[in-house]
Amino acid sequence: MIRLLLTLLLAATNAAAQVDGPVQAESGGLPVILTAPHGGLEDLPGCSERSPAGVRFVNRPDINTDRLTRAIADELRRLTGKSPYLVIARFHRKYIDANRRAEEAYGDPGCAAAYEAYHAAVRSHVAELRAKFPHAMLFDIHGQTVFRDAILRGTRYGSTVQALLARAGAPAITGPDSVFGRFAAMGYAILPGNNAAPTERIEAKNYAGGHTVDLYGSHREQGIDAMQLEFGRDLRNGPRLEQTAKDSAQAIAAFYERFLR
Ligand SMILES: [Zn+2]
Repeated sequence: MIRLLLTLLLAATNAAAQVDGPVQAESGGLPVILTAPHGGLEDLPGCSERSPAGVRFVNRPDINTDRLTRAIADELRRLTGKSPYLVIARFHRKYIDANRRAEEAYGDPGCAAAYEAYHAAVRSHVAELRAKFPHAMLFDIHGQTVFRDAILRGTRYGSTVQALLARAGAPAITGPDSVFGRFAAMGYAILPGNNAAPTERIEAKNYAGGHTVDLYGSHREQGIDAMQLEFGRDLRNGPRLEQTAKDSAQAIAAFYERFLR
């Protein structure tokens, strides 16, 4: 009984933690974290816009990836009865690129707290999942406009899913119950294709996996398996977004049933 009360109290605390702020962070019940660093459109008081500092520099947001991430989370809850963990940046990418190292992410010290809040939430979720579950997976959700109707996989050629590959082999990345196996079966164009080994260096240039999967992936001592998902523009537009979210949640749920339980 006391245990039940504590659980309810904790659940209430978690729900209450969803306050307005630069970052939406929520705990869940699935061993899955969804992160979305580039979908935010909000201003960030006290933080000036970034300016190029000798690095390849993008300040356009990945339009609708915050909505897409929330919609995937809702659908996962409907399918599995449990919520994924979430970390979604509300701030516009022109202020902070949360998918870069701090030195490249922003230019103004006034931006540091929001950047740190984002990564503190991811770190805390990763540590919690490592403590609670035998296996866990982070999906870092992005949008790209180069391959407009395709979904791209980024794992730094298998390195950020090293633990998953070691215990379950290539089928966990390219097999029928993998996320991209499901995407392919549903008719989505995917890159790279599922006919090559996950460790081949054929993930699309610039989309092979950024700072987030590199920092939290299972090739790191304190990491978990991590994969970058890049959704083409057409898949995030208007009425297509709901369908993309539903299909993505189905793909992640199938992966969870087969590889994370
Ligand atoms: Zn992005």
